[in-house]
Amino acid sequence: MPMPHGLCTALFKHLPDAVFLIDPDSAHILDCNDAALTHLGRQRSEVLGQSVLSLQTGVAGPDQWRSMSQAIRASDNFVHIGEHRHPSGSSVPVQLHISHFVHDGREYFLSTTRNISQRQALERDLHSRDAQLRYALNEASDGLWDWNLLTNEVYFSPQLARMLGYGPHEIKATLETWLSKVHPEDSLWVNRAKQEHIDGQRSRFNAEYRLRNRSGHYLWVHDRGRICERDANGQPARMIGMVHNITDKKTIELTLQAMASHDTLTGLHNRRECDLLLGRQVDLCHRLEIPLGLCFLDIDNFKSVNDDFGHAVGDKVLRRVAQTIAGEVRSTDDLSRCGGEEFLLLCTDTPEPDLLHLAEKLRSKIAAINWDDIAGLPALTCSFGVAVFPDHADTAESLFIAAESALTRAKGLGRNRVESASALMSTPIGFQRFKASSPADLD
Ligand code: GH3
Ligand code: MG
Ligand code: MG
Repeated sequence: MPMPHGLCTALFKHLPDAVFLIDPDSAHILDCNDAALTHLGRQRSEVLGQSVLSLQTGVAGPDQWRSMSQAIRASDNFVHIGEHRHPSGSSVPVQLHISHFVHDGREYFLSTTRNISQRQALERDLHSRDAQLRYALNEASDGLWDWNLLTNEVYFSPQLARMLGYGPHEIKATLETWLSKVHPEDSLWVNRAKQEHIDGQRSRFNAEYRLRNRSGHYLWVHDRGRICERDANGQPARMIGMVHNITDKKTIELTLQAMASHDTLTGLHNRRECDLLLGRQVDLCHRLEIPLGLCFLDIDNFKSVNDDFGHAVGDKVLRRVAQTIAGEVRSTDDLSRCGGEEFLLLCTDTPEPDLLHLAEKLRSKIAAINWDDIAGLPALTCSFGVAVFPDHADTAESLFIAAESALTRAKGLGRNRVESASALMSTPIGFQRFKASSPADLD
């Protein structure tokens, strides 16, 4: 169907891009559309018949126009980035597409011109963002990882590699690299936390754990990540995360924790931690219906050690007694220094006969400690009070009191001996009576 009369002219007039018809020889503008006038900020009379050279800042004179014309003729779509001069004196960056054609035996250039100031601003912005991003990846203290869940390739940023002691290209970009560096004690729960995010049970992956660096030492890191791409079926395809080195903060935190729970003289748990552990162990043994043995021991006549040999020797004696007891008990037992020269030993799953046997062994070991390095120090002895949950008491507090009473009895009966709470009570409690008194607690 032929184009209706006048449509061509209307199309030319309404094209959103600026279009110029140019005489190749003189460089004069023969015609242009309305967008071209808006673009230049000029009236039609100011534009028609003008040389394009007067409107372009980049094309200096006839010689340059001649060589440009040759290039336009030689190309199907000549592209030129230049600047248009505005009457205000400012110039606008433009991209020109110039083609050539012959009509009725005369040659024309047709220039379609687009204002690219916005595009250039975007490009500049992108360029500066790119630089910022590169800076962030290289210089910022956080390391970045980018995990392709479909291939298990993992990009480790240069900073993350550096954090672990490697150069940017030394670290193998696989999931295996990361897995092999997570501390064995952390890997189970860290992997679970990651999987829970992948399965949609957590909104993000967020974990504090230990990562091994090149020299074999472990760093504490805070690692946060999130799925950022899914495949066509909605399955996670890509996850990105940031790793922050928190070793210094964590070291202080762990030191403070250790200080709060340990006795600085002997390195054993302190009274505060001992109370927490006793409560927890009573609950555990209650649930499992196993006995919990408690052994409360106190060095006999210790005050005279301080009085006769000084406080420093007293401290040395305390440390050596603590070491002697610690060397004799099982790894599942817990030894605390719960007072000046008093120690508390928690023995899980230990019935009274076994506990009495252990206390007797400890008593004779302490009595046999070699004190030859402290001239004149006589052999030291300890008194012991033992009590067993649930035979002698059904709460942590009453168990402690039962052991303490047995200890007082041992002191009263001449020291350097083991006494059981059994001697102080007529009927042991036992799990049956205990169950009957608090059935709800067993849930
Ligand atoms: P008993 O046989 O009745 O237990 O007599 P004892 O002298 O051992 O008991 P007493 O309670 O009279 O004295 C305990 C002493 O322990 C008094 C205190 O100065 C000393 N002591 C407590 N803590 C420390 C410590 O950290 N270092 C030293 N060197 N002595 C301590
Ligand atoms: Mg004492
Ligand atoms: Mg005491």
